[in-house]
Amino acid sequence: MTASAANTHSGEPGEEPRICIVGAGMSGILMAIKLLEKGIDNFVVYERSGAVSGTWRQNRYPGVACDVASFTYSYSFEPNPDWTHRFSPGPEIRAYFEKVVDKYGVRPFIRFNTEVTAARFENAQWRVTTGDGNEELFDVYVAATGPLNNLHYPDIKGLQDFSGACFHTADWDDDYDYTGKRVGIIGTGSSSVQSVDPLSARAEHLTIFQRTPQWVINTANPEYSPMAIRLKHAFPVLGRLTRWFYSWIGEQFGLAALKDGFRRRVVFKACQSALDSVKDPVLRKKLTPDYLPMCRRMIMSGSFHEAVQRPNVTVETTAIECVTPEGVRTVDGKEHKLDLLILATGFFFNAQNVKHVVGLNGQSLADYWKDGIKTYRSISIPGFPNYFMLVGPNSPITNLSLIEIAEIGVNYVMQCIDKIRQGEITAMAPRNDITAAYMQNLRNAFGETIWTSGCSSWYLDDDGIPATFPGPPSEYRHELDEPLLQEYELIGA
Ligand code: NAP
Repeated sequence: MTASAANTHSGEPGEEPRICIVGAGMSGILMAIKLLEKGIDNFVVYERSGAVSGTWRQNRYPGVACDVASFTYSYSFEPNPDWTHRFSPGPEIRAYFEKVVDKYGVRPFIRFNTEVTAARFENAQWRVTTGDGNEELFDVYVAATGPLNNLHYPDIKGLQDFSGACFHTADWDDDYDYTGKRVGIIGTGSSSVQSVDPLSARAEHLTIFQRTPQWVINTANPEYSPMAIRLKHAFPVLGRLTRWFYSWIGEQFGLAALKDGFRRRVVFKACQSALDSVKDPVLRKKLTPDYLPMCRRMIMSGSFHEAVQRPNVTVETTAIECVTPEGVRTVDGKEHKLDLLILATGFFFNAQNVKHVVGLNGQSLADYWKDGIKTYRSISIPGFPNYFMLVGPNSPITNLSLIEIAEIGVNYVMQCIDKIRQGEITAMAPRNDITAAYMQNLRNAFGETIWTSGCSSWYLDDDGIPATFPGPPSEYRHELDEPLLQEYELIGA
């Protein structure tokens, strides 16, 4: 085991703090770019896989695409006139990040295939241990691990005994050809809904094992013509206008979830009309949720309702009893013979996976959060100095461009790093009393939102408190405009 103290910050003005970024997905790449722009190169990006782009590397299932418009799902400083669709396919988004990483010179700073297994705040620094046994010291720790990347596998009897192919949507076997196969998919979230069209187009039969129906808004996904792309190259203002338009739509959508009113009625109507396009009343009834639209994360798809009505698609609503070597047995004793079983069973919310982070007085983050997640403005945590989260719990993680949210967070963290660089402070952790008051305000505000209207969802913790932000993105931006040092405990000030 080695411990490297080289290049650590002495606390003297002008000294460069050493920064650790965990994750080379959308927000980790962004953080690295902004550091380099400021001339800071004393940082490491740890990435547990062998490639960049996070969720877009992990999710390669058929039909994977962004569910917010591409012109908002790109860095504000790196517009991409070449997007081929309104909602770009996953591989195109992945290629965008690969290109950006090279264009901005981030790749040499990334340690690929290196997982952070422990992070401990000791002697005013973060001691970071990686899976290969190495240890390094850092002044600042930036968690850029995204909200959803730890796969949830269902605990279903017999799953290990299935003799066909079986994989999670976020661990897709690219070599498996499902053409002409009997395919089953467990789950009805965004991943499942997006894949119903491509799977059913080639499979002999697709059985969707549904535990809970979902509201799905019909969102057309037209391809941009070569002429439209050329125009966006020639007149960049068109791309900026498109971005502004979809950001505005996102803001309206966010407001619909926050309070009752005409925006909410518009969304409800759109959901109902998409459902009404299902002609068979029995199927329509199966697909009808018993909770309000937007209570769970809204699913966007331009292909689901048409695809689910294909003759080779069955929606099975009887509960699964077990998996057998031949397929799935439902509790009514029916055997569903399958060649491929897909687990579209989602993720553990990342905030649940923080046992390895230990702050002041040896307290682990998991312990600090054992009675519910508490953050200061989504970005930092009392007792965990210089630990910053990008797109953390209590940030707006609903149907918005998370790139816009990450840009707000990175701007805030950069200001904190600046204060450390200038020698104003060595370390900062939010005050307990301020954080408690902040969380109380959030809880009070959640009462009016749609997320607490009665449904189960990965947004909610065990007490039914949403892990999102009860305000529009503009309010979040305002909250994270600049660090308020009086709300922090400062070390070395
Ligand atoms: P998800 O929304 O969490 O859906 C998981 C599904 O698996 C649910 O239908 C759940 O049923 C079912 N399930 C879990 N365990 C089960 C069990 N033991 N037996 C039967 N069913 C079980 O997961 P996801 O579809 O992967 O989406 C997760 C999130 O990722 C989305 O909300 C979205 O934020 C993001 N995402 C985004 C995109 C995009 O941008 N295009 C695409 C995919 C995912 P219950 O509902 O009954 O629990």
